[in-house]
Amino acid sequence: MDVILFGPPGAGKGTQGALLAERHRLLRLSTGDLLRDAVREGTQLGREAKRYMDAGELVPDEVILGLVHEVMTNGTAASGYIFDGFPRTTAQAEALTDLMRRLHRTLDAVVVLDVDDESIVKRLAGRLWCSQCSAVYNVYTNPPAVPGKCDICGGALVQRDDDREDTVRRRLEVYRAQTAPVVAWYRNAGLPVHNVDGNRSVDAIQNDLEALIRK
Ligand code: AMP
Repeated sequence: MDVILFGPPGAGKGTQGALLAERHRLLRLSTGDLLRDAVREGTQLGREAKRYMDAGELVPDEVILGLVHEVMTNGTAASGYIFDGFPRTTAQAEALTDLMRRLHRTLDAVVVLDVDDESIVKRLAGRLWCSQCSAVYNVYTNPPAVPGKCDICGGALVQRDDDREDTVRRRLEVYRAQTAPVVAWYRNAGLPVHNVDGNRSVDAIQNDLEALIRK
């Protein structure tokens, strides 16, 4: 089973994708995570990508396609993929179609998590990460007991560089301009596109996704 999760940044693709991947033994392929790994490791690709990521812009297609190709052709074929944050341009969607054809895979579903812009800004601008154990908080919806300190390990809470409000607003513009058309591209290609209301609890959304997958 191969599924693409679309949705603006902060729509919950990572959370929902991880739950689905665990439950159905699929591989969650998140290009954002692959890029952040490269940034953390300080590779040349990571250093180059960081400039785009910090500005809320898309990393060039060639870089992204190279990463995806590496994961999907590394010999340990996954029983299925949950694509999270990829494809983000029609060029990426075309390249994915080619690659899947060569690997004899077919896309089963395209899911869009819909969340309104103001909720996104609140979610992301308020999101904090523990610099030590990576626990996630939100100053509005899930604040730590002591401001700036992780409840679990006491580590310092920090904001992801691209979660600052101005960058979040740019990421939303980029999503509307460059990624929303990819959904239309799949619809025109005849694939079933399912819209799911992402302004609800994690459980409610996961139940909808499960129902879709069972279908
Ligand atoms: P994400 O964690 O998916 O929100 O991705 C964080 C950032 O990584 C994005 O704002 C982009 O700068 C970059 N990025 C992730 N995936 C892609 C992609 N498929 N194409 C271009 N840039 C990407």
